Amino acid sequence: MNIPQSNLPRVVIIGGGFAGINLAKTIANKNLQVVLIDKHNYHTFQPLLYQVSSSGLEPDSIAYPLRKIIKKHKTTFFRLAEVSEIQPNQNKIKTSIGDLTYDYLVLATGTKTNFFGNEEIETNSMPMKSVPQALNIRSLILQNFEKATIASTRAEREAYLNFVIVGGGPTGVELAGAIAELKNNILPRDYHDLNPSDMHIHLLEGSSRVLPPMSEHASEKADKFLKALGVKVHCNTLVTDYNGLDVTTNSGIKMQSETLIWAAGVTGAPVEGLNASALVDRANRYKVNEFNQVEGYDTIFAIGDIALMTCKDYPKGHPQVAQPAIQQGRLLGKNLLRLVDKKPLKPFVYKDKGSMATIGRNKAVVDLNAFKFGGFFAWFIWMFVHLMSLVGFRNRVIVFFNWTYNYINFDKAARLIIRPFKK
Ligand SMILES: Cc1cc2nc3c(=O)[nH]c(=O)nc-3n(C[C@H](O)[C@H](O)[C@H](O)COP(=O)(O)OP(=O)(O)OC[C@H]3O[C@@H](n4cnc5c(N)ncnc54)[C@H](O)[C@@H]3O)c2cc1C
Repeated sequence: MNIPQSNLPRVVIIGGGFAGINLAKTIANKNLQVVLIDKHNYHTFQPLLYQVSSSGLEPDSIAYPLRKIIKKHKTTFFRLAEVSEIQPNQNKIKTSIGDLTYDYLVLATGTKTNFFGNEEIETNSMPMKSVPQALNIRSLILQNFEKATIASTRAEREAYLNFVIVGGGPTGVELAGAIAELKNNILPRDYHDLNPSDMHIHLLEGSSRVLPPMSEHASEKADKFLKALGVKVHCNTLVTDYNGLDVTTNSGIKMQSETLIWAAGVTGAPVEGLNASALVDRANRYKVNEFNQVEGYDTIFAIGDIALMTCKDYPKGHPQVAQPAIQQGRLLGKNLLRLVDKKPLKPFVYKDKGSMATIGRNKAVVDLNAFKFGGFFAWFIWMFVHLMSLVGFRNRVIVFFNWTYNYINFDKAARLIIRPFKK
């Protein structure tokens, strides 16, 4: 791997997501050699992936080169590689570009899409977990608009213009709102040979309300906002099969669609090699103690979505969202420095900053501990928080410009089929 030998203890971080980059920044230029490894050479701001999928933003506005994050830190190295195995007895990992030894290993590998074992759905649906997948969705939506213009039968045209989103969590709700805006603002202008009322957006949610992780107040508001945008919301509905055209559900709803976007859940993305007892089966997450040490290992840690830390307030572990990942990354950084200085470690305590989701222009819902609200003010806060959370000044400026332009012109600038998607 060509990492220089040094007298400094080596920390290897697998994963440049929210957890990994916050850890890498905290321990940069300290008495540690840091090696950050990721299979992509960029950090992805996953909360805005849906805007790439729905032509609102270009991918380079929400992705940020990992090398740029570490460029000023001379004892930090980046390697573009996929880690395939951990060999804890030898303090070594195996990767697509060779082996590497570590003094401390940090697993920050996040999650992958969970299809709950349904291979047919996995083959035919569109996941939205990475930039390439978001671009695939963008291409497919635009390709289907084009195909709808030349469809020879009504049924064929309807299947191209039926967009099914599975999973009514924040991702599904935000995407449904954004696709509804394509229908309401873009279709009538760009595709005057299509009838916008032929386009339908279906949001399917297994539980009794959309946004199940948020308050009932947020769910009710989001439901109202979605319906106002023309989204058909189907709660208590699980998709049981999808062959690329026919959507089958447990509630008897059947429809035909060329586009089924799967936003119904995630499962951990662990790496082979640790004791089976270190993993919690149902979630595929590493069991960690309050210092993020993986059960059974002193020098291996897990942070972010892949870590399952239980405590009184979170008996099932922390929510798999950005804030626990950021906070664990920062605290583990400080704890690794304490470990090297032989000082006692500090336990992790999660500071919940609330949750929010947007449902198109001027509409969002926000749950803070004391306040729950929705509407324009919530939307404004949503925009501000997401803008300020983006990595890199350039990305913030570009996103701000795009949002302002879209807001004034009711337009989405990135309606390009750059790399056609083949089903
Ligand atoms: C579509 C979507 C929308 C979301 N919206 C929100 C939101 O609005 N608000 C919010 O708080 N949270 C949101 N989340 C959740 C949030 O993005 C995650 O909780 C957060 O990214 C977790 O950070 P992490 O560092 O643990 O993992 P990730 O950010 O997933 O990073 C993991 C990294 O590890 C790398 N990796 C994985 N395996 C390997 C391997 N074997 N070898 C090398 N590299 C590897 C990956 O390439 C990736 O860069 C959303 C997630 C998705 C998918």
